[in-house]
Amino acid sequence: MNRVSIVAGAVAGLGVAGLAIAHAGPGITAIGPLRRRLFPRLAGLGRPDHVALTFDDGPDPATTPAFLELLAARRLHATFFLLGSMVDRAPDLAAQIAGAGHEVAVHGWEHRYTILRSARDVHSDLARATAVVAAATGQRPAYFRPPYGVLSAGALDAARGLGLTPVLWSSWGREWTAGASAGTVAGTVLAGLGGGGTILLHDSDCTSPAGSAAAALAALPQVLDACEVRGLRVGTLAEHWPGPGAAGSSGERVG
Ligand SMILES: [Zn+2]
Repeated sequence: MNRVSIVAGAVAGLGVAGLAIAHAGPGITAIGPLRRRLFPRLAGLGRPDHVALTFDDGPDPATTPAFLELLAARRLHATFFLLGSMVDRAPDLAAQIAGAGHEVAVHGWEHRYTILRSARDVHSDLARATAVVAAATGQRPAYFRPPYGVLSAGALDAARGLGLTPVLWSSWGREWTAGASAGTVAGTVLAGLGGGGTILLHDSDCTSPAGSAAAALAALPQVLDACEVRGLRVGTLAEHWPGPGAAGSSGERVG
């Protein structure tokens, strides 16, 4: 079992997909339904007629272009949480994502647990990632999603200092699990998806077993069709929380 599976299992075992916060120290505090109500934006909950589609871990020349093709064919835009280290290797692909009208956001420079790093280290990682994403794409990122969905107090402070709003997700595909297929990924996403939800999928295998992104890609048409049937519009986080200065404008404080 790899690190992703261990954490995913631990978080899923707590009954709330992807919602975990680490306060000072190494302990992890699960967020339950109460936290969802208190911190809806952190949980990715937005307009009830809308679903935010988000991808983590790219840009990856091996896998991301196929996602861009599918989204273009469906005339949809999504939010890509980019890794600084991946943008550094493929800045043109990051620019292509933004140029196609998608929203770019920050997933950190290195894919490491923020709770295992000093506040200073996390701040410099996040600042470096934000700068490379902005330089490559010409977009100023508004959102941050920590690796593994685990936030430390230092990461929250760093995000706030850099003007980034932390966003996790409400529904995921678990495409990194053994035996994942288009059917299992779509089924898992849709089982947890309601109006106002945020979907997490991965457009790269750089932190997951080979084939994970392919399973996510193969699941997408079924997920998008189901959203259409349910009358849910699919788009970016910017569209999920419309309005002037939407990012961080709710007054919601975390950590
Ligand atoms: Zn990730």
